[in-house]
Amino acid sequence: MRTQRQIVDYSLQKRALLRDLHNGKIGTLEVCDASPYLKNAARFHGEPTEDRCPVCRRDNLTLVHYIYGDELKQSAGQARKLAELPVLAMTLREFQVFVVEVCQSCSWNHLIEQYLLGRDALTADEWDQGVTAAVASASGRHRETGSSSHRWEGGE
Ligand SMILES: [Zn+2]
Repeated sequence: MRTQRQIVDYSLQKRALLRDLHNGKIGTLEVCDASPYLKNAARFHGEPTEDRCPVCRRDNLTLVHYIYGDELKQSAGQARKLAELPVLAMTLREFQVFVVEVCQSCSWNHLIEQYLLGRDALTADEWDQGVTAAVASASGRHRETGSSSHRWEGGE
């Protein structure tokens, strides 16, 4: 999604955890502990992937997207289908997305990524269209964030 920003990637932590698991430093039960709620969320709102579970290799992983933010009110903390996120991103200024991968066979689960969505970013993207791509690769994502707050502060 092109409006994703402040992306935090947890793949290093995941790799370290899986290494510990394969070395026998931690047990399967410690990492395969998805709650019934998480597994339900995976079943009803999850995004299927082609990736095999790194622990049991019996099933493909499902991605669950949890949303958080003041604007969401009672919806905060709920799992949403991936297809719903662009719609929310058009209506809300800013909200946080946490992506959790889940194996519905062995209950392996891990936070893989978090990022911000919302129309603040959409506006910034449109504003910076063309320029952002070139500059972002040189100076990272901070510039994008800076320009969006510059535009909105004091405005509304
Ligand atoms: Zn599994």
